[in-house]
Amino acid sequence: MSTLVFLEHHGNELLKPSLGVLSKAASLGDEDVAGVVIGSDVRALADEAGKFGAARVHVADDPRLEAPLAQPRVDVLAQLVRDNGYDTVLFANSVLAADVAAGLAARLDAGLNWDLTDVVRDDGRLVGKRPALQDSIYVDVGWTSEPRLALFRQGSFDPTATGGSAEVEDVNVQLEEFSTSARMVEQAHEESEGPSIEDAEVVVAGGRGLGGPENFTLVEQLAKALGGAVGATRAVVDAGWYPYSTQVGQTGKTVAPKLYIACGISGAIQHKVGMQASGVIVAINKDPNAPIFEFSDLGVVGDVHEVVPKLTELVNQRKGS
Ligand SMILES: Cc1cc2nc3c(=O)[nH]c(=O)nc-3n(C[C@H](O)[C@H](O)[C@H](O)COP(=O)(O)OP(=O)(O)OC[C@H]3O[C@@H](n4cnc5c(N)ncnc54)[C@H](O)[C@@H]3O)c2cc1C
Repeated sequence: MSTLVFLEHHGNELLKPSLGVLSKAASLGDEDVAGVVIGSDVRALADEAGKFGAARVHVADDPRLEAPLAQPRVDVLAQLVRDNGYDTVLFANSVLAADVAAGLAARLDAGLNWDLTDVVRDDGRLVGKRPALQDSIYVDVGWTSEPRLALFRQGSFDPTATGGSAEVEDVNVQLEEFSTSARMVEQAHEESEGPSIEDAEVVVAGGRGLGGPENFTLVEQLAKALGGAVGATRAVVDAGWYPYSTQVGQTGKTVAPKLYIACGISGAIQHKVGMQASGVIVAINKDPNAPIFEFSDLGVVGDVHEVVPKLTELVNQRKGS
């Protein structure tokens, strides 16, 4: 089996979910696990991929690839699959990766399994694991032809640095005419402080139990004291209390921090699936029968307006600030 992993980057960093998928691919024991980095001025990123298990890294470095648009990336991947005979192409989900994976599936007439959380080798065959029925069961999925394409949920795998180094190969970038007709008119970057919700070791999340958007400061202060990021439920982002980019859950982000503190969150299944892989789950809720307590490691039955500021104070005291 020869596998190609799409390595997405932001600025000068390869994204953790892509490196996680690369580590997973390397752990399956294939001789030929390669990564591809696509963009402008991205050559330096190739070395990083070697540390996470890539034997080879293709670098498509071209000013025409600077904007994060899907079709030129589909051109590069299709060319690599045709020229190198990769039989498997793996992606970590993102808006861009989902577009590229779908475009590549159409271009190569290939099967794409999406929303996977794991992949294993079973009797020599590759089998994907896909949660279904609101993540209450796992379905085994396969491919009937090659190349096999797969899109994994973010946070499915931890990147594991093995310290290797990759052979770097430059791609002679050839773009289809139709792929260059779209251009990026504007790109906005949200200003944020501290770690991103996907990378943070601590996530403090707020729900409707906070009572109003102004009370998110309680959650922000606790997150700041713990060096963590702020998350939210869909109920509160739909209500406009907090940005969509912080939504955790089935239709939001999947996170797996070491510590997840849920403040005023009921623990609906759609929220649970986005945070259940967290190391330690702490819930603060005034209702002792709230479903969140069923999957929390530590539960505090109490009012968030009293418990959260107290907790922040204690953390700050402990830190001596
Ligand atoms: C297709 C679909 C997709 C969805 N995707 C997502 C998703 O990605 N993420 C997501 O989060 N949801 C998602 N939802 C919504 C989900 O079903 C729940 O409605 C939502 O998670 C509830 O958010 P909540 O816990 O903030 O609010 P509620 O369910 O209203 O819970 C509020 C909790 O706060 C407690 N509380 C109230 N006051 C206090 C207080 N003063 N102190 C302490 N506790 C207090 C209450 O006891 C209650 O348990 C989805 C729903 C559907 C149908």
